[in-house]
Amino acid sequence: MYDVIIIGGGAAGLTAAIYAVRAGMNVIIFEKMGVGGQIMLTDDVENYPGFLFISGPELMERFEKHVEKFGVEIKYEEVKAIKTKGKIHVVVTDSAEYETISIIVSSGSQPRKLRVPGEDTFIGRGVSYCAVCDGPFYKDKEVAVIGGGDAAIKESIYLTQIVKKITVIHRRDQLRAEKILQEQAFSNPKIDFIWNHVVESVNGKDSFEGITIQNVQNPEEKKTLTVSGVFVYIGHIPNTKFIDVEKTSNGMIKTNPCSLKTSVNGIFAAGDCRDTCLRQIATCVGDGALSAYNAGEYVEKFKSGHL
Ligand code: NAP
Repeated sequence: MYDVIIIGGGAAGLTAAIYAVRAGMNVIIFEKMGVGGQIMLTDDVENYPGFLFISGPELMERFEKHVEKFGVEIKYEEVKAIKTKGKIHVVVTDSAEYETISIIVSSGSQPRKLRVPGEDTFIGRGVSYCAVCDGPFYKDKEVAVIGGGDAAIKESIYLTQIVKKITVIHRRDQLRAEKILQEQAFSNPKIDFIWNHVVESVNGKDSFEGITIQNVQNPEEKKTLTVSGVFVYIGHIPNTKFIDVEKTSNGMIKTNPCSLKTSVNGIFAAGDCRDTCLRQIATCVGDGALSAYNAGEYVEKFKSGHL
C-alpha cells in the first residue's frame, strides 16, 4: 500500500512528489500521457523565478529529472476512478487497482473548445489549441487567435515570430491578460484586435477556409475572416471527472485554501484542477508543496492511529 498516490505529472504533481518522498513517504505518480502538463505547450516562460527565460518543455524536463533523482516511480496509466474502503483509498487505473492512505489530485486541465460548427472537422487542419506545436505550419500566413487571457495574448506574441499577421478576437472590449502582455501586444504591428466578437462557425468544405464571427452587442452583425488558421485560447476545463469530491459548477475541485484538503478525508488537490484564483507555474509549485506537506501529516496520523 502506498502512503500517497499522486494523480497527474504536471508542475503541481511533480513538486508534490519531491516533497512527499523527502518527507519519507512511499509515493507513486500516475500520468496519462507524458509528464509536464500544460506548460509543455508554452514556448517561453518568463515569470518563474530563477529563470529569466526558459522554454516550457525544458523547465519540465528539469522538474522530471529532479523527481527521478529521488527515485519516484511514474506509471503511465490513466486513472479511471477512486474508491474508498473505510479509511483506505483505492485508485483504479486502466490496468490495475492500487491501495493508498492518501491521494493528491493534480490532474490539471485541458483546453476549452469553442463548440461551434466546423471546429471538430478542422482540428489539426486549421484549428489549433497550441501555437508552439502548430505555429510553424502557418509561416508567413494570416491567422486568428480567440480569447483575451494570458494564454491568448502570450501565444499571439509568440506567433508574431512566425506568421504574417494575427487578428485577436475577444468577446469583450478589454483584455483579461496581465498588463505587461497587453502592452507588448498593443505595440506589436503584427497584432490586430477585433473586440466584442465571438466565433460563430469554422468554415471550409474539404479544407479550412476561415471563420465567421458575430458581434455580441449586435448579433445580426457577422463577418467572415479568411485566415489560414485559428488558435483557440479560451480557458481550460479541469480533468476531474474520475473523482467524486465536492467541485464547482465548472468541475474545479473545492479545497480548504490552507490544507488543500478536499471534501473527502485523505484526498488533497493541487494545481490547475482545483478551485483557485491564479493558475501559474509558481502557484502549482506552491500547491504541490503544500498538498504533500498536509498529506504527510495525514499519513502520520493514520499510521499512529490518531485519525
Ligand atoms: P483565462 O484566463 O480563463 O482566459 C480565457 C479567455 O477566453 C478570457 O479572455 C475569456 O473571456 C475568453 N473566453 C472564455 N470562454 C470563451 C468563449 N466561450 N468564447 C470566447 N471567449 C471566451 O484562460 P487562459 O488564458 O488559458 O489562462 C489560464 C490560466 O493560466 C490563467 O490563470 C492564466 O493567468 C494562466 N496563464 C499564465 C500565463 C503567463 O505567462 N503568466 C500564460 C498562460 C496562462 P473573458 O475575459 O470575457 O472572460
